Amino acid sequence: MAKKKKRRGIFLSPAIAAVLAVALIGVSFGAGWFFGVRSTQFHGDILLVNESHRLSADYVPDDLVNLYTQRHSFRMASSEIYLTRQTYEAMEKMFHAAEEADMNGYIVTSGYRSYQRQQEVYAESEPGKAQQPGASEHQTGMAFDVTVETNEGFESTPQYGWLMTHAHEYGFIQRYPANKADVTGISYEPWHYRYVGVDAATRMHRTGQTLEEFLGQ
Ligand SMILES: [Zn+2]
Repeated sequence: MAKKKKRRGIFLSPAIAAVLAVALIGVSFGAGWFFGVRSTQFHGDILLVNESHRLSADYVPDDLVNLYTQRHSFRMASSEIYLTRQTYEAMEKMFHAAEEADMNGYIVTSGYRSYQRQQEVYAESEPGKAQQPGASEHQTGMAFDVTVETNEGFESTPQYGWLMTHAHEYGFIQRYPANKADVTGISYEPWHYRYVGVDAATRMHRTGQTLEEFLGQ
């Protein structure tokens, strides 16, 4: 016959619970992890993500917005493209300014991608064509891909030229420039832009540095 165990409830006073919560956060910071982001991965407030600085499987930015439901001065390849609110607001300002300068036809093709989605993309891609899960900047919600309707490649369009001249004014960098694959680990991607803030983007624009070089990595 099974013995009946008496269960005793454990009650924590709010004060003790608060102390424990603070201690737990301290321990997770100490161990280098906080809410799924290695705390060492932040350089100031810039998040570095690449093959050697990966995000954990459960990292999801907490302020994602569906671009389709927002005012947008650009076209979209799908109605399900998400970015962090800060990134969206900066890109909307940028594409609105482009429109004012008669630069039209931008089509945003991709934004936030979950770790699980990146796993699928990686599995479906040829070797070397996609980043491994956790190593994609798209998981940050601060990067998007853009193109226009063209037969020649985005890099030979005036819309690309406008971005090259003005993206930094809105806090964006072209993350994977030509001839920088030895530093970034990724070959030229004229379509991929990353939000880092106006100050950092402007400094990188002046020096021609990649994010890795800018952060001394
Ligand atoms: Zn991309």
